[in-house]
Amino acid sequence: MAEKYEDSHLYRLRHSVAHIMAQALLERIPEAKITIGPPIEDGFYYDFDLPRPIEDEDIRWIESRMKKIISGNHPFVVREVTPAEARAIFSDQPYKLELIDDLVNGRVDENGASVQAPAEKLTIYTQDKFTDLCRGPHVASTKEINPNAFSISYRPPAGAYWRGDEKRQQLTRLYGTAFETPDDLKDYLFRLEEARRRDHRVLGEHLELFVIDPLVGKGLPLWLPKGAVLRDTLERWLRARQEAVGYQHVVSPHIGNLNLYKTSGHYPYYKDSQYAPIDVDDEQFMLKPMNCPHHIMIYRSQPHSYRDLPVRLAEFGTVYRYEKSGQLNGLTRVRGFTVDDAHLFVRPDQVEAEFIKVVELAQFVFGTLGMTEFRARVGIRDPKSPKYVGTDDLWENSTSAIISACEKMGMRYTVEEGEAAFYGPKLDLVFRDALKRDWQLGTVQIDPNLPERFDIEYIDSDNTRKRPLMIHRALFGSIERFCGILIEHFAGAFPLWLAPVQAVIIPIREDHNDYAVQVRDQLRAAGMRVEADLRDKNMRNKIKEQRKMLVPYLLIVGDNDIASGTVSIRLRTDEDKGAMPLADFTAMAQDLIASHAMTLMA
Ligand SMILES: [Zn+2]
Ligand SMILES: [Zn+2]
Repeated sequence: MAEKYEDSHLYRLRHSVAHIMAQALLERIPEAKITIGPPIEDGFYYDFDLPRPIEDEDIRWIESRMKKIISGNHPFVVREVTPAEARAIFSDQPYKLELIDDLVNGRVDENGASVQAPAEKLTIYTQDKFTDLCRGPHVASTKEINPNAFSISYRPPAGAYWRGDEKRQQLTRLYGTAFETPDDLKDYLFRLEEARRRDHRVLGEHLELFVIDPLVGKGLPLWLPKGAVLRDTLERWLRARQEAVGYQHVVSPHIGNLNLYKTSGHYPYYKDSQYAPIDVDDEQFMLKPMNCPHHIMIYRSQPHSYRDLPVRLAEFGTVYRYEKSGQLNGLTRVRGFTVDDAHLFVRPDQVEAEFIKVVELAQFVFGTLGMTEFRARVGIRDPKSPKYVGTDDLWENSTSAIISACEKMGMRYTVEEGEAAFYGPKLDLVFRDALKRDWQLGTVQIDPNLPERFDIEYIDSDNTRKRPLMIHRALFGSIERFCGILIEHFAGAFPLWLAPVQAVIIPIREDHNDYAVQVRDQLRAAGMRVEADLRDKNMRNKIKEQRKMLVPYLLIVGDNDIASGTVSIRLRTDEDKGAMPLADFTAMAQDLIASHAMTLMA
C-alpha cells in the first residue's frame, strides 16, 4: 500500500513552508490579515486579506526572506492552549478569531468540514517569531527544509473568498510548492510548464479543433472541421479494426423510453448523473445515459444459438450525463460524449478468450498511437464487503479470467481490492503520459446482472436455454476525452495520419500559384488532406504561421519546382528536406499514412 499523502513527509514539509510564507508576508505587509494555508495536491497555498495589491517585488522579497528563515534552523513548537488564550494570541487577526469561535462552538473547522465535538483545547504552532492556529503536523525544524527546493507564486485573478463564499471577503491567494530536493522541484516546474504548453483547451482553440460556447451549452463542445477530422479518423480506424476482429456495428437513438432504464436499473439508481425525464404525449423519455440497454435489446430481438456466440455489438454511441458545472473541463469533462462502446455476449467458457482479444486490441490501438506507458488496473471485490451480488464461483472464474488474460498478453497490471462493480470485476486501462500523469481511458467489465434483468438467452448444445454473460468494453472511453488526451500527448503535433491538414503548399511568388493549386489537387486526388496557401502575404510569414499550426509538411514551390516537377519539403520542425519529385513525395506520404507512422520522412 502506498503511503497516503496526508501522512507523508512531503505533506508536513509543504504545510511548514506555508507557515514560513505567512511569516515572511506579515513581515513585508504587517497590516495583512492571515486566514488559512493548507497543503494541496502539488504544493500549498495561503489566503491573505491584504490592504494593497501584491507586486512581483513583494514575491521576490518574500521568497528571499523565506530562505533566511529556513536557514535559521527554527524548531516548529506545538502548544495546547485554551480558547481564551488563543483569542488573546490572535486578538488582531479577525479570521483566526472566527475560526476559533467555530471550533469552540462545534460548527466547522478551517476546511469548512463540520466539527464532531466542540473543541476545548486548540493547538498553535510557532516557528521563529510566527505563530499560527493549526493542528499540524509539521516538520520538527526548518532544518528539514531545503531552501532551494521551494517556490512561491501569485497567479491573478486568484478569485479566492473567505470560506469559499463569494458573498464574503475576497482574499489574495499565494501559491507555493516544496520538494525534498532542488532536482525534484526543477522536474516539477518543468512538467508544469510542459502541461501549460500542452493544455488541450489552449491548443484546441489555437489549432481550430473545437470551441465551447455558453450559448450552445456548458460542457457541450462543438467540433470545428479540423477537430472533426481528428475524431472521424480515429473512429474510422477503430471501426475497421473492430470489424476485422469480428465486431458488428449497430446504431441506436439518443433518447430512450424511461422503462428501458428502469429495466436496466440505470434509473433510479444513477439518477444523480442523469438528466430529468422528458415528457412526450403520455410517455417519458430520457437522454441516453448508457448504450448498454439498447445493445441488449438488439441482442434480444433475435434468437441465438451457442454457435452464434460471442456476439460483439459495437457503436460509437453518444450519451449524456450530468456533471456539475464546476467540474467541466475542456474535452476531458463534458456533458455529452461519444463512447467507443461495445457489448460482447459470451458463453461462460468464452470469457477468458474474449478478454485476451480485448487486451490485444487495446495493445494494438494504444501501441499504434505511441502510448506505450499503459497498464491495466484490475478491480476485484472486497471479500469483506456485503455489497456484491452473484455466486463465489462466478466471481472467482471471471476474476481469474481477467488476470490470466493480462498475464498471457504480457500486460502490466495492478490489482485493486474493492474496485469491482457490485455485480462483477473489471479492468480499467490507465495511460501514463509524458508528464507522468495518469489518465483513465476505457474499461472492460464482466456483467451477469444486465443479462438477468433483461432475461436474455441462448440455446445451448443440449437444446436448453442458457443465460449469456455480457462484457461491457470501451478502449478510448469517451472520444471527446480521448481527443483531449491525444492533443496533450502529441502537444498538437499529430502523426501524419491523424493531422487535420497534412500538407500546405506555399508558393514563393504569386506567379507560382497555379502550380501550387495543381500540386494540391494531385495530392487531394491521392487521398491526402492538403491546402494551398494563396493568401497575399509574404512567403516567410506563411511558413511561420503554418508551422505554428503544426502542419506536418510545408511544400514550398518556385521556378525550379515548376521546371522539374518537384516540391521543396520543409517540416513543421523547420527541417529543410530539399526538393523531391512530386510523385515520390506522394508515394512516401501515402506509405507513412497507411502504416500510421510516427515519422514524417521514410
Ligand atoms: Zn498550519
Ligand atoms: Zn455497457
